[in-house]
Amino acid sequence: MELDNKTVIYIGFDDTDSLRGGCTTYLALAIIDSISNHCNFLDYPKLIRNNPNIPWKTRGNGSISITVEIDRENIAYIKQIIQKQVEQHYHMDENTNPGLVIIEGEISKEIQEFALRALVKNISILEAKELAERFCLFHFSKGNGRGLIGGLAAIGNLLEPEKEDFTFELLAYRTEEFIGSKRRINEKSVHEMDQQLAPKVFNNIDSETNKVLICPAGKDPVFFGIRGETPQDVLEAFSLIEVEEPIGGYCVFRTNQGTDQHFKYADSKAENYSVFKGEVEVLERPITITGGHVFFKGKICVNGEEVDIAAFEPSKNFKKTIKKLIPQDRIIAYGGVKYKEEFKKHSVHLEKCEIVFLSEYYKEEAPLCPKCSKRMTSDGYLKGYKCRSCGYKDKNMVKTLKILERDIKKKLIIPPEQAQRHLVKPFRRYNLQKKTSYEIIEKWWKRSSQV
Ligand SMILES: [Zn+2]
Repeated sequence: MELDNKTVIYIGFDDTDSLRGGCTTYLALAIIDSISNHCNFLDYPKLIRNNPNIPWKTRGNGSISITVEIDRENIAYIKQIIQKQVEQHYHMDENTNPGLVIIEGEISKEIQEFALRALVKNISILEAKELAERFCLFHFSKGNGRGLIGGLAAIGNLLEPEKEDFTFELLAYRTEEFIGSKRRINEKSVHEMDQQLAPKVFNNIDSETNKVLICPAGKDPVFFGIRGETPQDVLEAFSLIEVEEPIGGYCVFRTNQGTDQHFKYADSKAENYSVFKGEVEVLERPITITGGHVFFKGKICVNGEEVDIAAFEPSKNFKKTIKKLIPQDRIIAYGGVKYKEEFKKHSVHLEKCEIVFLSEYYKEEAPLCPKCSKRMTSDGYLKGYKCRSCGYKDKNMVKTLKILERDIKKKLIIPPEQAQRHLVKPFRRYNLQKKTSYEIIEKWWKRSSQV
């Protein structure tokens, strides 16, 4: 086979959107559209969600990479098209720091390792810049260059089917004249689609409130996104959704959403902005604080560090279960860590929780009379008990302990869909057969108008 004139390049980018609008995934579609005549796509674009606990992240901390085979002689031309698309699409904003990286050939071990750390830790921009200098054919950034982190992480997180769980999301876009107006979507068709295709699609409906979750709010160019197990599933779901406005295009992404990939690489070290996974013993009964959040003091079992464990609104049933924990219970806590300067301690914000040990719950009560079996009463401090019924007295008798049944079971609990972060694996995805491959289907993207 003569492949000398062909080469594979990986295009990674991030942080092109800002709170004022814009969307990194839409830029992906624009790039795909603009280079499609000059390349062969080797994979779906990857939409990689990184550590959700980074405070300066873009919404959802998602970054994108595109893998293509091109003629070697076209590299400079492709690079030019892509850079132009990035510059055209990103929204100028003091908090937007876009980054674009292009890697040719092999993806080094360093970049792969970097990508797994970007899932769980707070990574410095400097480290990303150094890696980009060493391994990239080309890199480009604006502002402080934070987008380089996501760009590299989207390329380095390979989501190899044999090694990692992965899902798909079809994102449909609006046409320019409709952006900012109310989305015209038939919600009933979304409910019906979900009932018809479950469990092959997920997180479309909130099971606690029945709310449709597929549409973002406000000025986002995304019309809706459907998450599912295979490209075929999300495309079928797409065909079942009824809308009353034109669709500007769509694209299927391969993602780590709904896979718990961040927990796979997390540890039980409490470190500011990192992802946490570890066994924690409950030290005090959980309390509800202002705003409705529930929290309790706990101890990390492996190192004895005291931490606060918090469950936030709007995870109603989740919080209700957490409130039933008592001292000495143990959980596996999954969540994000924040260091609280004022208390000089870390707190773990729960994304999910497995209750693994329930301690015995006693109630102290007065003993029963050995003569007539009636409940006795105290005869005063250190004076033992007396029976009001038959008059029996015993100054050596003490309170008895009664074991009460706990209104809580050892189990995994996850907040409802609308409170779940992108990476969290929802209940619907448990017990599915593991995928080890996927097909690149025809028509995985389409762009009918420009935004
Ligand atoms: Zn008695």
